[in-house]
Amino acid sequence: MTSIGWRFDHSYARLPEVMFARAAPARARAPRLVLFNDALAASLGLEAGAADPQALAAMLSGNALPEGSLPIAQAYAGHQFGHFAMLGDGRALLVGEHLCPDGRRVDIQFKGSGPTPFSRRGDGRAALGPMLREYVISEAMHALGIPTTRSLAVVATGEAVFRESLLDGAVLTRVAGSHLRVGTFEYVAARNEPELLAALTDYTIARHYPDCAQAERPALALLEAVIDRQATLIVQWLRVGFIHGVMNTDNMSLCGETIDYGPCAFLERYDPGTAFSSIDHAKRYAFNNQPLIAQWNLARFAEALLPAIDPDPDHALALAEAAINRFADLYRARQVEMMRNKLGLSGEAEGDEALISDFLDWMRDSDADYTNSFAMLNPGRIDAPQLIADPRLAAWHVRWQARMQNDSWSVGVARDQMRASNPIYIARNHQVEAALDAATGPAGDLRPLERLLEVVRRPYEERPGLAAYAAAAPDGGRSHQTFCGT
Ligand code: AMP
Ligand code: MG
Repeated sequence: MTSIGWRFDHSYARLPEVMFARAAPARARAPRLVLFNDALAASLGLEAGAADPQALAAMLSGNALPEGSLPIAQAYAGHQFGHFAMLGDGRALLVGEHLCPDGRRVDIQFKGSGPTPFSRRGDGRAALGPMLREYVISEAMHALGIPTTRSLAVVATGEAVFRESLLDGAVLTRVAGSHLRVGTFEYVAARNEPELLAALTDYTIARHYPDCAQAERPALALLEAVIDRQATLIVQWLRVGFIHGVMNTDNMSLCGETIDYGPCAFLERYDPGTAFSSIDHAKRYAFNNQPLIAQWNLARFAEALLPAIDPDPDHALALAEAAINRFADLYRARQVEMMRNKLGLSGEAEGDEALISDFLDWMRDSDADYTNSFAMLNPGRIDAPQLIADPRLAAWHVRWQARMQNDSWSVGVARDQMRASNPIYIARNHQVEAALDAATGPAGDLRPLERLLEVVRRPYEERPGLAAYAAAAPDGGRSHQTFCGT
């Protein structure tokens, strides 16, 4: 067995047994390492450089489980498109929590490793294309500075999975702060066992929000801390035009990471009502609906926590409601601050919100690309002919410049702030699709995907020769549709 330096512990598996089920990964017929994330491995303290790719493929398909692992499927519930369901890991296994040299504890999860007791009618498998998609989008998000699960590897299993057609099967190794979700608490709440709720609350606090243990009401402090982190996360999504696509409560991580890259995509042409997912007919998870949905999901979390907040249900409800109601203000304040950063404005001036919304309105009315419209404002990039050709933009530009001149910030700080807020390169849908088509096609050509990864790993740095990656899709991405990984 290859040893690459795993140091596993299994704190989640020490919770009561109803929280998980033991399960073994299915045997992969011919595992082949497709992608391996060397930089991530190094940051986890793993020594994979010298490892033989065959041995890594055997390990990361689950055929030769890493030393010290204890594969379990986690139990959880969730509201999917508003409807409650008991779920659980139907196609994923937590193989252990790796203890990094820097003291971090991260979940190592195989996604697509075969059926579990929670698979219901599913086959427990994943197809290569969607796993490569999670890999590239999660890398892009990480490089953009947005909290996210990471992808350590994708291994093709050498077996076909049946979707609409026969596809290559794959296992993704996912690295996460944890896989505790809003849905984990909903599962416990549905069982109506106060001790179990107390155990999960204590566990979550100890693992992610240790300061809350000192609070007068730890469960309420946990709720407030999770609300805080989600508000920050969703603001960051809006900063870069990210649309999650399936913000069910089982896909909302309590540690504040972006999780479960299914039908997600980056917004291109600015239409705030954009939803890409083929299964989201009601546009529940549209771009501009994400903060509202986050608050709705957090309300489900609060409900599940109620008995831990106060023994008196009415009092618990009043406290939880007050916390949930603060989300909107918190979110709004951070959103305005985020937009100020994108425009390079410091401090607060009257008219800032109008300046921001007028720019967005211009963007919407002119079918402009979200990423490129902001990037155009970055130092040295404004295009004079464009201003001449577009009087509305030119008028806005005059107001914006005037606001900048009255600013106490030094020009240098404002410039840095904008460059750090407005990416040049996002993972554009047509580029992602082209790279995945090449990788999953008969030739298995990984070069376009590797090239795309290089581009999105340095999103803020404009580089020669990469104009195609910054170009808007010919139709603004209008026709784009995304599909669930299932
Ligand atoms: P997701 O939409 O990927 O977050 O998945 C929602 C639920 O469906 C989770 O409980 C998954 O484990 C389960 N699931 C998704 N795909 C499959 C599959 N192919 N086989 C079994 N369960 C699945
Ligand atoms: Mg999920």
